Amino acid sequence: MSAAAPLPGRSARVSHFVATACARYHLDPAGLAGALAIPVITAAPPPPPRGTLVALPDWASAIGVEGALLVPDHLVAAGTAPCWQRTDWLGAIAWYLDGAAERAAEARNGPIHSYAGRLTGWDTRFWDAAWVNRIVLFLGRWAARRGVSADPRVPAAEVTLSHDVDAVRKTTAIRIKQSAVHLIKALRQLRGGRPVGALRGVGRAVRFFVGPGVGYWNLDRLIAEQRALGLDPIVFVHGGGPPRRPVTWLFDPGYRVADPVPGESLHRLASAGVRVGVHPSFTAWADPAALDRERRAVEAAIGRPVGDCRQHWLRFSWAATWRAQVAAGLTHDWTCGFNDRPGFRLGAALAVRPWGDAEALALTATPTVLMDAQLYDYQELDDARRRAAIARWIGEVQAVGGQAAVIWHQRVVGPDYGWDDGLRALREVLTEGAARRP
Ligand SMILES: [Zn+2]
Repeated sequence: MSAAAPLPGRSARVSHFVATACARYHLDPAGLAGALAIPVITAAPPPPPRGTLVALPDWASAIGVEGALLVPDHLVAAGTAPCWQRTDWLGAIAWYLDGAAERAAEARNGPIHSYAGRLTGWDTRFWDAAWVNRIVLFLGRWAARRGVSADPRVPAAEVTLSHDVDAVRKTTAIRIKQSAVHLIKALRQLRGGRPVGALRGVGRAVRFFVGPGVGYWNLDRLIAEQRALGLDPIVFVHGGGPPRRPVTWLFDPGYRVADPVPGESLHRLASAGVRVGVHPSFTAWADPAALDRERRAVEAAIGRPVGDCRQHWLRFSWAATWRAQVAAGLTHDWTCGFNDRPGFRLGAALAVRPWGDAEALALTATPTVLMDAQLYDYQELDDARRRAAIARWIGEVQAVGGQAAVIWHQRVVGPDYGWDDGLRALREVLTEGAARRP
């Protein structure tokens, strides 16, 4: 992902993102752009964006989702030629990977942090597939038909399992938050005309709230199990001080990384080669000084440099967060995903270097595609549908040989949450790696 030679007729930003996407599939962006007649469209209509499904020609239909690829409709020129010949595919790659529509929405309305539901009027199909990966595979096949290069090879997917450490024991704040989640779900059941389910939900809320104060330290066991399966998980840990204000008391982790739990285990795990990153506080998303302080606290606890980061609660601003992370000495962010739904926030399963003013930032951003709470708190799913959802989202990353992360909080295994079955299903999908490749 180094700086690429600019493509004729394209901006440095488009060249950068096209080079990023091509690199994953060992394609030469200049050769590709030179061989294919791809229109250049520079319009940038205001959000919300609308999508157009572009039907692929027969020789490439297997690369699409049901034979088509989704692009924003302003990147398809008017005309009578087949749609795929009128599409600005390179512009679409950059539009997705730059988060162009979300950036424009944020400039108007402020950050949504990571709630997809706050993007009103959005065409949610943009998040349903790794469109960018598929676009590059299509362009590669097109170029191969022109005799420019070989049909691109789909590499092995890189799905990173990650454990965010939000709590090491059951705190009052956790009791309030998770009981509230159960009550909200119960209310949803009641509104949906399911009083028995609602009553069960209230029971769950009460049991969680008054239940015994248990320890939540499962990380040593989880890491050992994951590594035995050949998975190489990454851990994100809070580096902030004790929360002081009501909002941070409720939302931030209540432990200190320097305490014996979790500090001693984390030091041991990091010494054994486990990747440990910082999980910055709820209010730190645009605060380089806080990010730097918290990064150093984690470094002191584990005795190693820390470059990885995922913002707690996925608190994130396109304009501010990555810049603040760079200023704080962080080099790899894993925040880009949604709280309230699985999906490809960049329309891609690709690690990218986000664009700054005139060049790429000195930071890699790997998208997060799926989180445990989406399967247990945000939706009512039975075991079979939960398994199907895991296979669907991870399967898409595997199908295109993409790069993405999954969040499984370390506190949620065990009797209190009982989200063990989902983790087992996830491990199966990750280790099978049964790639559905186009
Ligand atoms: Zn968190």
